Amino acid sequence: GVGVGQKSNVPSSAKNRSVEQSQSLARKASIAQQRRSLPIASAEKRLVVEVRTHDTLIIVGETGSGKTTQLPQFLFNGGFCDGGKVIGITQPRRVAAVTVAKRVAEECGVELGQKVGYSIRFEDVTSRSTRIKYMTDGLLLREALLDPFLSRYSVIIVDEAHERTVHTDVLLGLLKDVQRARSKYNTTQINSDKVNGNCSAVSGKEGITHCPSYLKPCQGAKFFPLKLIIMSASLDARGFSEYFGGARAVHIQGRQYPVDILYTYDPVRDYLNAALITILQIHLEEGPGDILVFLTGQEEIESVERLVRERIRHLPLSSQNVVTVSIYSSLPSEQQMKVFRPPPPGCRKVILATNIAETSVTIPGIKYVIDPGVVKARDYSAKTGLESLVIVPTSKAQALQRSGRAGREGPGKCFRLYPESVFFELKDSTLPEIKRCNLSSIVLQLKALGIDDIIGFDFMDKPDRDSIKKSLEQLIALGALTDEYKLSDPVGQQMSRLPLDPIHSKAIILATQYNCLEEMLITVSMLSVESIFYSPHDKLEEAKVAWKRFSCLEGDHITLINVYRASVEFIEKSKIKDSRVKAIEGNLKKWCRENFINNRSLRHAQDVHSQIGGHVQQMGLTVNSCGDDMLQFRRCLAASFFLNAALKQPDGSYRAMESGQRVQIHPSSMISGTKPDCVIYNELVQTSRPYLRYVTRIDPLWLPELAPQYYAAQT
Ligand code: ADP
Ligand code: MG
Repeated sequence: GVGVGQKSNVPSSAKNRSVEQSQSLARKASIAQQRRSLPIASAEKRLVVEVRTHDTLIIVGETGSGKTTQLPQFLFNGGFCDGGKVIGITQPRRVAAVTVAKRVAEECGVELGQKVGYSIRFEDVTSRSTRIKYMTDGLLLREALLDPFLSRYSVIIVDEAHERTVHTDVLLGLLKDVQRARSKYNTTQINSDKVNGNCSAVSGKEGITHCPSYLKPCQGAKFFPLKLIIMSASLDARGFSEYFGGARAVHIQGRQYPVDILYTYDPVRDYLNAALITILQIHLEEGPGDILVFLTGQEEIESVERLVRERIRHLPLSSQNVVTVSIYSSLPSEQQMKVFRPPPPGCRKVILATNIAETSVTIPGIKYVIDPGVVKARDYSAKTGLESLVIVPTSKAQALQRSGRAGREGPGKCFRLYPESVFFELKDSTLPEIKRCNLSSIVLQLKALGIDDIIGFDFMDKPDRDSIKKSLEQLIALGALTDEYKLSDPVGQQMSRLPLDPIHSKAIILATQYNCLEEMLITVSMLSVESIFYSPHDKLEEAKVAWKRFSCLEGDHITLINVYRASVEFIEKSKIKDSRVKAIEGNLKKWCRENFINNRSLRHAQDVHSQIGGHVQQMGLTVNSCGDDMLQFRRCLAASFFLNAALKQPDGSYRAMESGQRVQIHPSSMISGTKPDCVIYNELVQTSRPYLRYVTRIDPLWLPELAPQYYAAQT
């Protein structure tokens, strides 16, 4: 019997293997074919020569032409990684860094994290053998804290520079200095007597131009020159070129088919509903082709996704051939690649995306674009010190980028969910983020790098003086800077090492003293991810009942801790029944569904928790717990979030103490009904009106007691 069994088994498994092999060969061939057909493919030799002959290069090319995925490979093959050097490519968005790295690893036929890898906050998938490294712009800034010369990189590509995130802008200034310093120490062997001196003085003697004093190499250090490439989708290369002293700009020709633009007759009131109707209309009336819908965030995406699925279920069977996929920044990385998978044969794919799909990520197959004309953006007022997330109209440039996504593979259509007259009123382009965000986090990082003169720093667009002043004041109040504006030791040092918002860092550092670091670690992790609570509009009441289990009338921060602990407890219990990873994941998913908790966000929070836990351990902080004594925990919140305090007003609204602005507690808050006299909050979100999100009750007397440096004078 055995012999027969073996005989019949061998050919079948061999057959399977050969099927697998031929499938993987076919995939390889198709990828090679796709790469060859990209507009950038014919420019490989020229680009490598350009990079060799120019230290700084601006590359402008239409979205989807192959800049992000191909150029690093060209440079790798061109010898820029010889001797173990690394090519770094920065992206403003995590999702772009992850999905592109995965794609390029596949194109190179290597395992992710080997030759090709990525590194983003809370997730590092690189190794010593990584040569092509995708990362967020913020992460490279963090690396500069540890290695100011960024000494392993031969080339740094700042991608999507047109986005002008605050991290990109700071990075550009920093890289300019690093490039200058590295070329100087490339040729100069450093003498021991000069090592501790000020580099600009040294360079003066040697007739080399300005090299900032914060970049002091160790004795005997020698660097290879740094190549800088600034890549951008929009056509404004001149600004970048001027900033880099007239750097050369290269244009890559793209391909673009005509796109029909359609407008509404009247302004729409509810763009989510309008988007839903348009999706169905396209599906029922238009020819084949996938649909890309631009929404502003995870919550909108999840709500539209649910509505589309529901509506599709009620269509005749023959029209149910629709799949929905989504992509946004907080989507766990293992789910992000789903968006690239082709739909099943005969099926239409509806992609629900944030503006990540505007230029950062190109998804094949799109023929229809739905553009509600809005985007979630940061907004900041230096006068009030108030930062908020607001949904604002896109710029003309963004609207054009979005519609362009419909015409990559053939003629397409773009449905703008606003009247044509509105388009002409849009701003040409968006204001750089550095002009509209709270700068505390960035100023703290610059200080930690040794850059003391923030106002004098070579920004492409200078932030407003008032914003800088405000952030300095806030950092002094938090104890991160001394009264002389120097980084304090140890508080400022420790805060700058944590990859968190300064207030969150402060909370972590203080927590040991209040016996509640365990609780604070959980809180900060849960606050670092988007919407833990899953609140479908039509089942809000049901959801609220489910959340009662966790809710704490003292505040949302404690509620978050309760959710986290309940999930951990649940995982432990379900491990006993079935310890397989898949089973645990499945059970947790079910638990989340029953409790109206966002499974993706929760798992992300668990990752963040273990990452911050690692930092905390390295810093030698004692992880202690206050047990049931939540008073200590709330006092710790007051001592760290005191900049975000609000007082109840006679009419039941709240006044944010720092800015004086009138605000409301968000209705999703567990304490929105009880209205305590004084609260601290995590963030201010501006939707239809300004709302405080994640709120906890504190005693107003704690403020002058625990933050006398800030409140003593005012009370
Ligand atoms: P650019 O940076 O110029 O906008 P990219 O290098 O990002 O262009 O994209 C080049 C091509 O690679 C596009 O056609 C895109 O569809 C394809 N591509 C990128 N990532 C993936 C992926 N994960 N799966 C399939 N195709 C991808
Ligand atoms: Mg790109």
